[in-house]
Amino acid sequence: MTKKDNVHLETLLASGGRDPENNFGIVNPPVYHASTVTSPTLAEWRARDFTKHITYGRMGTPTQKSLEEAVALVEGGDHAIAVSSGLASITTAISAFVSAGDHILVSDSAYFPTRNFCNNVMAKYGVETTYYDPLIGGGIADLLRDNTKVVLTEAPGSQTFEVQDIPAISAAAHARGAVVINDNTWGTPLNFRSFEKGVDVSVHAATKYIVGHSDAMLGIIVTTEEHYEKILMNFRYWGQHAAPDDCYLGLRGLRTMAVRLRQHEENALKVANWLKTRPEVTKILFPALPDDPGHELWKRDFEGACGLFGLTLDKHHDDTALGAMLDGMELFAMGASWGGYESLILPSKPIRTATEWESTGTLLRLHIGLEHPDDLIADLEAGLDRLAAAAG
Ligand SMILES: *Cc1c(COP(=O)(O)O)cnc(C)c1O
Repeated sequence: MTKKDNVHLETLLASGGRDPENNFGIVNPPVYHASTVTSPTLAEWRARDFTKHITYGRMGTPTQKSLEEAVALVEGGDHAIAVSSGLASITTAISAFVSAGDHILVSDSAYFPTRNFCNNVMAKYGVETTYYDPLIGGGIADLLRDNTKVVLTEAPGSQTFEVQDIPAISAAAHARGAVVINDNTWGTPLNFRSFEKGVDVSVHAATKYIVGHSDAMLGIIVTTEEHYEKILMNFRYWGQHAAPDDCYLGLRGLRTMAVRLRQHEENALKVANWLKTRPEVTKILFPALPDDPGHELWKRDFEGACGLFGLTLDKHHDDTALGAMLDGMELFAMGASWGGYESLILPSKPIRTATEWESTGTLLRLHIGLEHPDDLIADLEAGLDRLAAAAG
């Protein structure tokens, strides 16, 4: 894993955002529940600065600051801002940079609620969105206009797992003065080093691998000094907030994220390689596999993978056949979200407007958890056999 200031990232994960010496020697920072924060003197009340001090619960508690400090340190950004959900990190970041009459470019493979926000909220406020081919690379230069303020990237793409050439996209965006916001949920602050790749603002569904235990909703925006104040003000205008207990859970998750991710990746590779041997599996959408079309870019730009990938089957199954497979799974549950310790499986249907996404068969998304991979393989084997029997 890469180093920052000669300290390995695992070390930053373990040490960032805590100060036992000023906390009775206690290893973890406390959870501060706060709305009102009082000032002992009028002079102090007058001198309150929400960008620097603890002034009001909504503006951030010391627990939130600990999480923000640790995540920014690990990803290599100057600052981080915790918000209520992953989606809130995206909406808070995008809306910080645009005004009526502006234009944004969003990858056609972006997380679907990002598209919802652009089409239903940004459009209402007079901001136009153009969706672009995720594989466009430096060709995005042709789509950039004088009023393009934001280019949103996400790699690998939600559901379809294309790897974007983020350094090339960033170079083109910067040449026209646009800010690059990258949804780095799959990459995590460890496995995709956003700020070394030209990203200006990295957003995360911390709900996924940072929290890591399927129990808290949380988002984090990591950014450079240049854009921090603008995003912080926007965070404040929208009344955004991150709950102290959830920040604590995010910090707790962060401490073990490197070891969890390594195991998720190892298990996912084992399961994916087994899936390749199944005749009904036509494609695995997982850039960590050497034959994936995004593998070379992934190897160039990522430090590792995680447990989330897709696969396509040889035919489109109806819900009767698919139900025969999915209803009987013992270890894989059907559920939204991912990044927790448990395995998940869902049928997915990418929505595209700039590009076609064609598949010869049903698309499934798998999250490979921390169960033993052999048990997961046995569960999938029985499931695929049920599917074959039901499909006839
Ligand atoms: C889940 C997810 C989000 C949204 O996170 P929430 O915490 O559920 O709001 C954003 N981006 C990606 C890529 C995701 O997978």
